[in-house]
Amino acid sequence: MTKAKKTIHIHTNSLDHFAANKLEQIAHAGLTRQTRPIVRAEDMAATRNGENFISFADNDYLGLSMHPSVKEAAASAAQLYGGGSGASRLVTGDHILYQEVEERIARLKNTESALVFGSGFMANISIIPTLMGADDLIIADRLVHASMHAGIKLSGATLLLFDHNDVSSAAGLLKSHRHKYPHTLLLAEGIYSMDGDLAPIKDLATLAKNNDAWFMVDDAHGLGVVGEGKGSVHATNATGMVPLQMGTLSKAVGAYGGYLAASEAVISLMKNRARAFIYTTALPPATLAAANAALEIIETDKELVSKPVAHAQYFAKALNLGTPQSPIVPIIIGTAEEALKASQFLEEHGFIVTAFRPPTVPENTSRLRFCFSASHNKHDIDTLISLVKSLNVIGP
Ligand SMILES: *Cc1c(COP(=O)(O)O)cnc(C)c1O
Repeated sequence: MTKAKKTIHIHTNSLDHFAANKLEQIAHAGLTRQTRPIVRAEDMAATRNGENFISFADNDYLGLSMHPSVKEAAASAAQLYGGGSGASRLVTGDHILYQEVEERIARLKNTESALVFGSGFMANISIIPTLMGADDLIIADRLVHASMHAGIKLSGATLLLFDHNDVSSAAGLLKSHRHKYPHTLLLAEGIYSMDGDLAPIKDLATLAKNNDAWFMVDDAHGLGVVGEGKGSVHATNATGMVPLQMGTLSKAVGAYGGYLAASEAVISLMKNRARAFIYTTALPPATLAAANAALEIIETDKELVSKPVAHAQYFAKALNLGTPQSPIVPIIIGTAEEALKASQFLEEHGFIVTAFRPPTVPENTSRLRFCFSASHNKHDIDTLISLVKSLNVIGP
């Protein structure tokens, strides 16, 4: 009895010691991360610690998380159907609301079918290992999202990275290595979340096809904001050329969940084999209703979907930055410490702008990342422009 107690004590101690040591290293590198409770409101307003802010850090590019018809749809679905879904989709969680959401996604992405997952992260850790195994090859852009790397690890496939947005770099890898593997998957994002740049999707799609490789685009940041709202595949004139289009319902759609748009055969395979689809509880009805109402707006309101990029371009022009291709505008600062300082300065003046630091971005490219939304107003953008000018962080 006494012996067992002592053992537990030692384990707890070594665990806390381990955590404290790791944290010390993280703090030493200036990379400590913290959660900070917040209340979001309309027009990108937010209250944190009793203070009011305008957020330029949200991925709610169309302000749809606060749209009256989205809120109404979520509220009435909760009233009608309850707070949770009760089970996984293959048991009793496949609420009738899923069907409409999936039909809308397939229509927007111009694919035979679509499947909603628990989140974008869960979609990536499901789709990749369902298609790829230890004998296969994955060729990915150097900057693809952490969730794709997690999926790649789970698959056990060999990974080779090509230089960011460099089609000839990807071509070189295919030429040297494609023949050694039964299957090869090419991975890219539509719009890169840290730089806001659009991928050369059409050229990558052609390259994949010519080398008998499959191609997946993660369009987390493209749906709703480029290509008339249809996303980056449409924006780059590659409609019908990308067999695997995944993304999220948590960014421009303003709700929660992930998706894959693909052929009937691929979607049916996912339902039978994708582990983070099969072994997880279905989304709550209110979330599905919110996504459905938001997707309807994205399908129909052409003016709304053009606004986030227009706002980003207005901001960039005033600061003599290059023309943004998306609602994401990075300003590279350099060290993690300097980027944090710049972010704190903007916060003192009422604006939330996130500083991104390694390992999320490469060493010495710590940056401020400005995310523009359709629901920002000109006055707030103008105030932000003057503040950024006063920071003196943009080169000549
Ligand atoms: C946000 C994001 C994801 C994850 O989506 P969630 O629905 O938030 O889990 C995946 N890929 C990319 C590129 C992202 O930006």
